[in-house]
Amino acid sequence: MNTPMQSTDTLNPTTQQPEQTQPLVRFAGVTKRYGELTVLDGLDLQIEEGEKVAIIGPSGSGKSTLLRVLMTLEGIDEGVIEVDGEPLTHMPDASGQLVPANARHLRRVRGKVGMVFQSFNLFPHMNALQNVMEAPVQVLGLSKAEARERAEELLAMVGLEDKLEHFPAQLSGGQQQRVAIARALAMRPKVMLFDEVTSALDPELCGEVLNVIRRLGEAHNLTMLMVTHQMGFAREFADRVCFFHEGRIHEQGSPDELFNNPREERTREFLSAVN
Ligand code: ADP
Ligand code: MG
Repeated sequence: MNTPMQSTDTLNPTTQQPEQTQPLVRFAGVTKRYGELTVLDGLDLQIEEGEKVAIIGPSGSGKSTLLRVLMTLEGIDEGVIEVDGEPLTHMPDASGQLVPANARHLRRVRGKVGMVFQSFNLFPHMNALQNVMEAPVQVLGLSKAEARERAEELLAMVGLEDKLEHFPAQLSGGQQQRVAIARALAMRPKVMLFDEVTSALDPELCGEVLNVIRRLGEAHNLTMLMVTHQMGFAREFADRVCFFHEGRIHEQGSPDELFNNPREERTREFLSAVN
C-alpha cells in the first residue's frame, strides 16, 4: 500500500513558505514511462537534509530510473521533482508562473545532485587527480590550483592519497569506485546518489567502498540515497529503508521495522528470497 506523505496543495510552489522546513528532495506523483511500460508509477518520496535512505527491491522495479530522473539523466512524464525546494524541470518566470527550465537553471539545480554508478565511468585517459579535477574546472570554473587542492583532499579522504597519478587501468575496481566517489563529491553536491556501487566488485573489494561511504555519512551532513542489494549494509547504514516494487515505494520504515517486521507480503517475499 502506498501512503502519500504530502497533501496535493504542496504541488503548487506558490503556496510554499520559505521559512517552512522543506525536504531536500521531493518526488510528488512522479510517473516515468518507456513506451507502454510504466517504470515509475505516481511515486511519492521525501528525503530530509542529512538523511540516509536505502532503496531495495527486485530487479526491474525502477530503482535506477528513480536515481536517473533525480540526476536529470532522464525526463519524467508526470509529477514534480524538487531539490532544495526548486523544481528540476521548471522555473518560475518574472510573474511567478512555472515555465520549462532553461539550460542555466538545469545546470544549477543539477549541480546539487551527485551520482556514483555501478560501472565506475572514470575517464580512462585521465589519472585519478585529473578525473576529480575535471568537472570543478570545466563546470564550476575553479582554477587548476583550487581544483587540485580540492581533489587531493577528497582523494585522501577516500584513502587514495598515494594513487593520485594512477590511471583507471592501473587501479583495482574498488579503488576506481573510490575515485568515482571523490569525483562526485568534488562538485559539492547536497545529495549523493549511489546505484549498486559495489555490484561490479569482487566481494573482498566491496568493504573498502562501503567503508568510505559509511565514513562520509558519519563525517558530513550529506544526504544520501542509495540503491543497494546488500541488506547488511542497508541495515546498518540507513536511517530509512524503502522497499521499491512496480515503480513505487511499497513499504518503508526504519531498518529494524523493514527487516525485522515487514508489514507487506511482497516485502516479506523479497526479503526471504535475498537473505
Ligand atoms: P532496477 O534498477 O530496479 O533494476 P531500472 O530502473 O533499471 O530497474 O528499470 C526499470 C524498467 O525500465 C525495466 O523493465 C527496464 O528494462 C526498463 N528500462 C530502463 N531503462 C530503459 C530505457 N532506456 N528504455 C526502455 N526501457 C528501459
Ligand atoms: Mg538498477
